[in-house]
Amino acid sequence: MRPAEKIWSNYIPELFALTVGRNRPEAVTVNITDQCNQKCIYCEIGRGIGTYSNERLTLIDLKWLIDEMSYMKIRRLALCGGEPFLFQDLMKVVEYAASKNITCSITTNGFSLGSLSSRDMELLRVSKTRINISVDSLDEKIYSTTRGVPFKVQNLIESVKALSRNHIPVTFLCVISRFNVHRLYEYLVQSYQCGVKQVLF
Ligand code: SF4
Repeated sequence: MRPAEKIWSNYIPELFALTVGRNRPEAVTVNITDQCNQKCIYCEIGRGIGTYSNERLTLIDLKWLIDEMSYMKIRRLALCGGEPFLFQDLMKVVEYAASKNITCSITTNGFSLGSLSSRDMELLRVSKTRINISVDSLDEKIYSTTRGVPFKVQNLIESVKALSRNHIPVTFLCVISRFNVHRLYEYLVQSYQCGVKQVLF
């Protein structure tokens, strides 16, 4: 997101809400699944120490939520997890939200991005979906240490380039730990070289 866009979409509404109050939420965040294919050392899902219900959200639940958001004129839906791409109807959620003029962001670990079809890419582009990729390091050893799975940096770079080619904005999200804290500047430079213009620590 460009600085001017960010000011208009994030900061001006917040300033406005501070002065005149807020009669509805600006955005809704949903953890659409508690399933994940990584084992991050700082995450209760990754470490398998959370308490979970056997009940799972369905596409019907998400459509109901989107209808409610549409009725309330809430225009931003953040889809998180777990790993959202393990929710099999994720693209249908994005499509339905777009049909109601609601823009999604998806926070993913990026492992499934390489298998997105050209139709998926087109849907993400036209629906103005933003992709947040949680990646703690572009060093394969540090990444594997913090996330408990083998990592091929080239796969991630290819996925980011494919998203960029399709004009889908990408943000990197980085958890600072004792494993990556000494190499954050290097990470920032590598992220920029991949085409990522925003990194949130
Ligand atoms: S990718 Fe996200 S949900 Fe999965 S283990 Fe890591 S922090 Fe947890």
